[in-house]
Amino acid sequence: MQALETIEADSPKVACDGGKGALGHPRVFLNMGDKGHVECPYCGRHYVLKAGAKAGGGH
Ligand SMILES: [Zn+2]
Repeated sequence: MQALETIEADSPKVACDGGKGALGHPRVFLNMGDKGHVECPYCGRHYVLKAGAKAGGGH
C-alpha cells in the first residue's frame, strides 16, 4: 500500500507527473470540475482545490 498524498492546488486544473522516483509517470492534466478534487489515476495522488481558490474557472 502506498500512502496517498494530498496536494492543494490553486487551480481546478492540475498537471501531475508523479514526481520523481518510483511513482513518476508521463505528465497528465487533471480537471477537478465541479467536485473540487481529483485523484490521479496513475499515482493516486489526491488533488484538492485550495480554500479560497475559484472552482470551475471564470468568475
Ligand atoms: Zn500522478
